[in-house]
Amino acid sequence: MHADLLRALPAPACAYVYDTAALRARAAMVRRALPPKATLLYAVKANGHPAVVEALAGVCDGLEVASGGELALAVTAGARRIVFGGPAKTDAELRAAVAAGALINVESEHELRRLAAIAPRPPQVCLRVNRPGGGLRGSHTMTGAPTPFGIDESRLGEALRVPGVEVVGFHLHAVSNNLDGTAHAAFVRDALDWSLRAAGSNGVDLRVVNVGGGFGIDYQSRAEMDLSDLSSVVVPAGLDLIFEPGRYLAADAGAYAATVLDLKTTHGRTFAVLRGGTHHFRLPAAWGYSHPFTIVPVDDWPHPYPRPEVTDTEVDAVGELCTPRDVLTRGRHVTRLRAGDILVFARAGAYGWDISHHEFLRHDPPVFVIV
Ligand SMILES: *Cc1c(COP(=O)(O)O)cnc(C)c1O
Repeated sequence: MHADLLRALPAPACAYVYDTAALRARAAMVRRALPPKATLLYAVKANGHPAVVEALAGVCDGLEVASGGELALAVTAGARRIVFGGPAKTDAELRAAVAAGALINVESEHELRRLAAIAPRPPQVCLRVNRPGGGLRGSHTMTGAPTPFGIDESRLGEALRVPGVEVVGFHLHAVSNNLDGTAHAAFVRDALDWSLRAAGSNGVDLRVVNVGGGFGIDYQSRAEMDLSDLSSVVVPAGLDLIFEPGRYLAADAGAYAATVLDLKTTHGRTFAVLRGGTHHFRLPAAWGYSHPFTIVPVDDWPHPYPRPEVTDTEVDAVGELCTPRDVLTRGRHVTRLRAGDILVFARAGAYGWDISHHEFLRHDPPVFVIV
């Protein structure tokens, strides 16, 4: 991926490449798979690079944000719609969200009261509800289990009696990285049914159901959630069904690339030591998996001393940090790998740089290349 571009970078290369055409194509593909007239938002926390946010703001219906910083990014990117969620909003963030015309997903009764006190007019909001069940398996379960997200279903009646806010819908984001498209479509149908019932029994004029994100991809097999069951979900007339995926939109449009600085074998294991590592791309270490890589061979070797090289062997791709946990990939077979070659980690566009601990050891950051 982008081999010539990577070879042209000053050596040793260390870069994130974000492909805006790929972002736009991906958003178009996701939109085609959703039920007609459903709203597609991009969850900015997956990748908040301004170029990524701007590209997706242009092709999605809007952006989902979870902090004052993301809200400011969304406003700058010219998002047509903004939805603001998160369990720990400050008064300043609530004020900024009201001023930006964002639809706020309120996460507690206390937050409802704080918002009512701040807003000049009763704002229309969605209530985030942590319902029992939900039946989705992914890497992070957020609903149907004890979590800080949303209100307990048993408190719905009390929450809906808080004066000074107008609840127009429910927010039911449930999971991250779900790989089962059939289960996801069933979750969406169930979320619609539950919302209609809850609205009916509590006298809510239901206009919005937000089913969140969570469309998954499998980093090791390259599989991903099959969206094809979603298009047949029937959305009641006049209801705004909101999807807000992050990972699924951004992952494939980003690659992380790092030059091999050294190759060595200790106690029978071979290590490719990179100009980079988990302080730039923390996801494999955080989730405990091996992220696949491809090799961009760099034939140029301008040095008088021999070039480290391995052939037909398994290598661990490790970073420049002084910790044995700085591992991106374990035991990947290579036919040939040399110091100076560049490893490319695809599918690094979501929860890559944005979740990493950049300042640890104070190495230079990667360059960000936008194509
Ligand atoms: C993180 C998050 C998303 C996006 O999740 P993905 O798994 O990246 O699709 C959407 N909505 C909310 C409320 C979130 O917290």
